[in-house]
Amino acid sequence: MSEFVLSLQGIEKTYNKGKPNEIRVLRGAELQLKAGEIVALVAPSGAGKSTLLHIAGLLDTPDAGTVQIAGHDMTGRSDRRRTLARREDVGFVYQFHHLLPEFSALENVMLPQLANGVTRGAAKERALALLGRVGVAERADHRPADMSGGEQQRVAFCRALANSPRVMLADEPTGNLDPATADQVFNNLMVLARETGLSAVIATHNLELAGRMDRQVKMDEGVLVPA
Ligand code: ADP
Repeated sequence: MSEFVLSLQGIEKTYNKGKPNEIRVLRGAELQLKAGEIVALVAPSGAGKSTLLHIAGLLDTPDAGTVQIAGHDMTGRSDRRRTLARREDVGFVYQFHHLLPEFSALENVMLPQLANGVTRGAAKERALALLGRVGVAERADHRPADMSGGEQQRVAFCRALANSPRVMLADEPTGNLDPATADQVFNNLMVLARETGLSAVIATHNLELAGRMDRQVKMDEGVLVPA
């Protein structure tokens, strides 16, 4: 069994292949993520961070290369198998919270667990524990629209971690927040990550936040290099 929770090897991705607007985004990208490791992914807009995160999270397939999660090669697996692996092993956080507007914070963190067959009681208990760890337990009954941007992102982290994924993939998770709030929310995330032994790849433009992660990689001409 591989020592890596996530391993990307030789990942290539070209959009609009063979057309005049062809764009080679990934050209052999490699990334190995150890258990409990938090890696910052730093690159300018348009460099291919989202593309890489989507491929790592089995939302998209590369043209070449392999994606292994917990030592299991996901290359060529059926859509069903990939969906199951994504649901169990991967937690996503985006720049915008994407919480379901008609549900409370609590319900938003319970729903992925219910979809995975967890009982209502157990799902509620875990959701409240997660919300408590990031300081928004008292907002549990609020809908996303009645929460601040920082609170919404904290709930989004809890939802991403609801099913104890092996890896969290976050695409500019604090990019939509003012600097002070971004700092606080990032601190919440790091506490949560350290307490749960989470492994994560976090794309960010914020070099100060990147510097607080275990390691930094940047995307350079379609490959990942130490930053
Ligand atoms: P980042 O997340 O670093 O901003 P992206 O991965 O979103 O970068 O995009 C990398 C490049 O690929 C950009 O030039 C973008 O326009 C292009 N791109 C992304 N998705 C698609 C797509 N589905 N079809 C065509 N081009 C795309």
